[in-house]
Amino acid sequence: MDVDVAVIGAGISGLSTAVDLARRGHGVIAIERHARPGGKAQSERIDGFLMEHGPSSVVAAGATPLLPQYFTAEHDRVDLEPGVRRRYLMADGRLHGIAVHPLAFLTSNFLSKRGRLRLLAEAIVPSRGAGMEETVAAFCRRRFGHEFADRVIDPLVGGMFAGTAESLSVAATFPRLVELESNYGSILRGVFIGRVSGKRMPARRLFSWRDGIGTLPTALAAQLGSRLKVGVTVRRIAAHPHGFVLTTAGAGSIRARAVVIATQPHVAAELLANVDATAAKAAAQIAAPPIAVVFLGYERAQIAHPLDGIGYLASTGEHRRVNGSLFCSTMFRYRAPDGFVSLAAYIGGDRAPELARLAPDELIDIARHEFAMLLDARGEPVLARVRHWPRGLPQYRVGHRELVAALNGISERQPGLFLTGNYLDGVSVAACIAHGRKTADDVDAQLRRPSTFGSFRQDHTAGRLKGTGS
Ligand SMILES: Cc1cc2nc3c(=O)[nH]c(=O)nc-3n(C[C@H](O)[C@H](O)[C@H](O)COP(=O)(O)OP(=O)(O)OC[C@H]3O[C@@H](n4cnc5c(N)ncnc54)[C@H](O)[C@@H]3O)c2cc1C
Repeated sequence: MDVDVAVIGAGISGLSTAVDLARRGHGVIAIERHARPGGKAQSERIDGFLMEHGPSSVVAAGATPLLPQYFTAEHDRVDLEPGVRRRYLMADGRLHGIAVHPLAFLTSNFLSKRGRLRLLAEAIVPSRGAGMEETVAAFCRRRFGHEFADRVIDPLVGGMFAGTAESLSVAATFPRLVELESNYGSILRGVFIGRVSGKRMPARRLFSWRDGIGTLPTALAAQLGSRLKVGVTVRRIAAHPHGFVLTTAGAGSIRARAVVIATQPHVAAELLANVDATAAKAAAQIAAPPIAVVFLGYERAQIAHPLDGIGYLASTGEHRRVNGSLFCSTMFRYRAPDGFVSLAAYIGGDRAPELARLAPDELIDIARHEFAMLLDARGEPVLARVRHWPRGLPQYRVGHRELVAALNGISERQPGLFLTGNYLDGVSVAACIAHGRKTADDVDAQLRRPSTFGSFRQDHTAGRLKGTGS
């Protein structure tokens, strides 16, 4: 098979890239090893409950401008239920409700008076200037004080990245914070100046679809039609004077002028080994510790807690086995039948990778025990399911930006070979869509450039591959 572009991997990143390239008229195929596209984005309806195996919502500010152009299921979109404006944080063994508002920590008693004063003092903490790359924990303790860093930032990082604030790079995970410090000398001052000068951050709301996040890959796959090849695994990439030759299990050899690797980083490392040792080495250093999602359905009456929020997060210092939980049917009421509620527990990640490998029954027990203690959940859940992700979220640890620089250099070293995925410029679904589209721009520009190598497609229609004598 000869194509302009072969995209390897049909998660959100690969699908976004492939759909964008197809819309620009390029002969593209997306190759997915599983029978179902979507990668981590998988939704499943079971007995009237909707389980999200991976992502459960998209941040509106980031993704909305990107979706409508090629999105067909916009009418099925559901926004976070109005009135859900609270998150719970766990401290001292119990849950504390905090409004989702920038000033919430200053007005609530979640932090001690001393902790709140220290938080405010951020405005006068001298900026550090250039120096060694800092972890999220070091940066936040220096700027906001220990209490805020340990009780707020640490659980947030556990929830957003399934990682630890002690190992993640602040510049790689929260570049905006570093930028604010460098431009304004203080994050609080930077935010304040931004607000009074009218440069407000757009309001960030969460949304999904009536049938869950899986709607997104399904809609993207429909755009690709027969250009999406599922159940095909790419085993090897070899450079060729006219582009690249892919060896696959399931579709023979595929020749392409350009190739986009849109897999998880460990697969990218294997595929790159043969073509670009520098990028292969960098990709191999990006860890993605395992994570398990435990989904439990209950009758509403079984749970005493009001479940009036998005969910809860626990800091490392609480030594809990569940990093955090989402109140799924509070966020989106379509996720449980009337009279029932659904909860998801996230276990493992970089905090405790060994827990994510436990058997389903053990994981269900952990989640049940946790919900009994914190939410006063009584009795057997009516539904229990577990999803193991042996490779969860990529960790943007200290040094990550250097790895990404080495990976980004690939297009110079190997013209026609591109990378996209959640390990490059943000892990969220919105970030994957944005990076996928940017990659499509780069591929498009490359294919339009007077080429140093010919076209497989043209050569093929001429009945002969230039330069190979075949
Ligand atoms: C538990 C969990 C919860 C999350 N929650 C949220 C959330 O609420 N909101 C949010 O925005 N983000 C969330 N995320 C993050 C987000 O879901 C992911 O970062 C994103 O979906 C990754 O997309 P991707 O396409 O880059 O990678 P993947 O989804 O990993 O896709 C890679 C694809 O490549 C395929 N592949 C691999 N090797 C080959 C091969 N050799 N040949 C062919 N195909 C191959 C794989 O089968 C897979 O389909 C969550 C992630 C997890 C794990």
